Formats: sequence, structure tokens, C-alpha cells
Amino acid sequence: LIEVRNLSKHFHKKQVLKDISLDINKGDVVCLIGPSGSGKSTFLRCLNRLEEANSGEILFEGTDICKKDVNIDLHRQKMGMVFQQFNLFPHMTVLKNLIIAPMKLQGVDEESATEYAMSLLEKVGLADRANEYPSKLSGGQQQRVAIVRALCMKPDVMLFDEPTSALDPEMVGEVLTVMKDLAQQKMTMVVVTHEMGFAREVANRVVFLDEGEFVEENAPEEFFTNPKNERLKTFLSKVL
Ligand code: ATP
Ligand code: MG
Repeated sequence: LIEVRNLSKHFHKKQVLKDISLDINKGDVVCLIGPSGSGKSTFLRCLNRLEEANSGEILFEGTDICKKDVNIDLHRQKMGMVFQQFNLFPHMTVLKNLIIAPMKLQGVDEESATEYAMSLLEKVGLADRANEYPSKLSGGQQQRVAIVRALCMKPDVMLFDEPTSALDPEMVGEVLTVMKDLAQQKMTMVVVTHEMGFAREVANRVVFLDEGEFVEENAPEEFFTNPKNERLKTFLSKVL
């Protein structure tokens, strides 16, 4: 679904991503872990060109989206993104937040958009909050709405950048549960996370990014119980 080839990115003189490659297959749940500043967010942002890579290719469904003449908006619609901060539109109700993009960008009529949004809200247990404004919701609820908003575009892949890091501890679980359900429905997901339990339980591949390089990649069991790289061993000894 996504093939990243020899991607490099630098800010001024600092090289943040060093010639990295990764294949993301349909149905994969790839968890990306690594120390602060290792380039996780930058990598994710390069995937949908919120950040322009300096070199390398990103083939998304066969198209190199790094090419200048590519219609990036079209491809972005296929990639749902969820950030640490929920970024809901504060002046719109939950429902309006959900239907605006499908209506404006995909020409879906209001009735179908509403029907689809409500069915997804139902699944995350928030159907009764559809007409509230985001500020009335808890952080965990807002993040679930943000996930639903991305899903309303019917994306082929979901990108998550530390979706639970800004939440109070008691709300982390409800958001992880929604993500776990998504994974079970075979959504392709790339998840930057510090939730090692989630990575271990839900991911089918875990990748360790350190100083802009993919240092180790493995199935979760092997990754956590039998790490090979010294830097990964050190990292895991601090976080587990
Ligand atoms: P964290 O776990 O703290 O979120 P991260 O792994 O997501 O860290 P990035 O945000 O990708 O790390 O940052 C990688 C490096 O790139 C850092 O040294 C950061 O300071 C630098 N960086 C990121 N964005 C920019 C920018 N817009 N301009 C300059 N430097 C940047
Ligand atoms: Mg980050």
C-alpha cells in the first residue's frame, strides 16, 4: 500500500531522517517507537507530505507522491491522520466536524454523510453527543471524534501520531480500544506511540526509530522479548 524508499529529510543542517525505507502492506498495523526527537513525527508527516522529504520516494498505491505534479489532496483524502492534539473545529458541532470534509471534498450529500457519521459515532459510543460542541467533551471523547472524523473520509490507511499522549490516564484506554477495534476490522494503520502494551498486543510489526534511522523491525513478541540492537535494548529497559 505504501512503499517508502530511501527517504531523507533535513531541517537546515540537521538530518532528521536518514535514507530510510519501509513497506506498509494492506492490513498492517505498524507501530513506530523511538526516543523523543528521533524523527517519528517527521516520518509520519512526510507520508502525507505535510512535510516535504528532501530525497527518496513514497509510493502510495503505486504513485510516487513526492513528485511535484502529483495531486496530493486526492491522496491525502485516502490517508486519515490523527494527532496528539485533537484539532476539532471548535465552532462546529461534533456532527458538523464529521460531515464537512466528505461533503466539501468528496461531494457526498448531507444525508448520506450524516448517516455514515452517525453509524461510526455509534460504534465509538458517542452517538448521543453528535450535537454538542467539542469543548463540552472530555479529551478522550474528543480524540474518539477525531478518529471518526478521519474515518468519515473512508481512508485506505490511518496515521496516528501519539494519539493518547495528551490524554489524562483514565481516558487512554477508551481511545486505544477504538484503535484496537479498527485494527481488528483490518484497517491499515501506522501508529507512533509510547503505549508499549498496545504495540505488543495490536501491532503486527514494530519498528524502532533512533536518530533518523530504522534500527530494528520485528514482530512484536520478538521485538520486545528478544531485541538485538543495543540502542533498542537500552530504550526498552527505560520504558518497560
Ligand atoms: P517526539 O517523541 O518528541 O514527538 P519525534 O520522534 O516525533 O519526537 P520529530 O518531531 O520528528 O521527533 O523531530 C525530529 C527532529 O527534527 C528534532 O530534532 C526536531 O527538533 C527537528 N524538527 C522537527 N520539526 C522541525 C521543524 N519544522 N524545523 C526544524 N527542526 C525540526
Ligand atoms: Mg513526535
